[in-house]
Amino acid sequence: MPKHYAVFGNPIAHSLSPRIHAAFARQAGVDMDYVAIQAEDFAAALSAFEGDGASVTLPHKEVAAALCASLGERARRAGVVNTLIRTADGWHGDNTDGDGLVRDLTGRRRLDLRGRRTLLLGAGGGARGVAPALLDAGIGDLFIVNRTPGRTDALADALGEPGRVHPRNFEDLGSLGEFDLIVNATSAARSTDFPSLPMSLCGPRTTAVDLNYGEAAIPFLAWARAAGAHEALDGLGMLVEQAAESFRLWHGVRPDTGPVYAELAGESLSLVSAD
Ligand code: NDP
Repeated sequence: MPKHYAVFGNPIAHSLSPRIHAAFARQAGVDMDYVAIQAEDFAAALSAFEGDGASVTLPHKEVAAALCASLGERARRAGVVNTLIRTADGWHGDNTDGDGLVRDLTGRRRLDLRGRRTLLLGAGGGARGVAPALLDAGIGDLFIVNRTPGRTDALADALGEPGRVHPRNFEDLGSLGEFDLIVNATSAARSTDFPSLPMSLCGPRTTAVDLNYGEAAIPFLAWARAAGAHEALDGLGMLVEQAAESFRLWHGVRPDTGPVYAELAGESLSLVSAD
C-alpha cells in the first residue's frame, strides 16, 4: 500500500514539490504518492486529508503551526511549519526551510556564512523559517526589513538575540551600508511590485540570495547584479534541499539532491516560483 502525502498552498498549481518528491521516491524505492492541494481554508483542507504527512507553503505556514499537536525545535523557534507528520496524537510540525537554505549555500555553493553581516528582506513564513538557521550558521549581525513593520518587530523579538538582530524599516535601507549577505524572502515579485532597493547595500563581497526562482527571482537578482554584488543566487537549490529534509523526516532516508537539482536547474527560467 502506498503512503499518501500532499503539499497545501494557495496558489499551488505551479508547485514543483510533487515532481521533486516523486524523483526522491524513485531514487529511494519508497512506495508513496504526493499531490498538490489548492487550499483557501487550510484548516478545513487539512482536516479532510487522510494522508501520512504534508508540506505546507504560502500563505499557510503560521496557521499550520497553530494546528499542530506538537512542534519540533526548528518549527518552535521559527513559529511556522512547512512539514507535517501524522502521529497518534495529531500532527507533528517541523520546519525544513532554514536547513534547506543553509545546506544549499554551504554545501552546493561552498559559502562560508560565518561572520557575514546579513540583511533579510521579509518577515513572512519563509523569512521566519530561514532566520534561526542563518543565526545558527554563524552569520554576524542580522538586519530585518519588512513592508509591515509590526511583523519585523515580531520576528526580531521571537529570535531573542537583541544584540545581534536588528529590526529596521524600508526607509532606513539607504543608511545601513554594505552587506555580505542579502536574502530576499519577500513574495513582492509575484505582484510585479518589487520595492526599489538602494545600490549602496551591495558591494564586491556581497552574496545576494533570492528564495524565489524562475521569473519571480529576476527583479531582485537583476538589482543585485546591477548593484555590483559578487554573486546572485536563486532559491531553486533551497527548494530541493528543504524537500530532501522533509523526505528524510517522513521516510528516514535523505535522498541525493544533486541529480534532481541539476534537472530542474537546466530548465530554471521556464519555472514558475512556488515552493
Ligand atoms: P508569506 O506570504 O508568508 O510572506 C510574504 C512576504 O513578502 C512578507 O514579508 C510580505 O510583507 C512580503 N511582501 C509581499 N509583497 C510585497 C511587496 N510588494 N513589497 C514588499 N514586501 C512584500 O510568503 P513566504 O514568506 O512563505 O514566501 C516568500 C517568498 O519566498 C515566496 O515567493 C515563496 O515562494 C518563496 N519561498 C521559497 C522557498 C524555497 O524553498 N525556495 C521556501 C519558502 C518561501 P508583509 O508582511 O508586509 O505582507
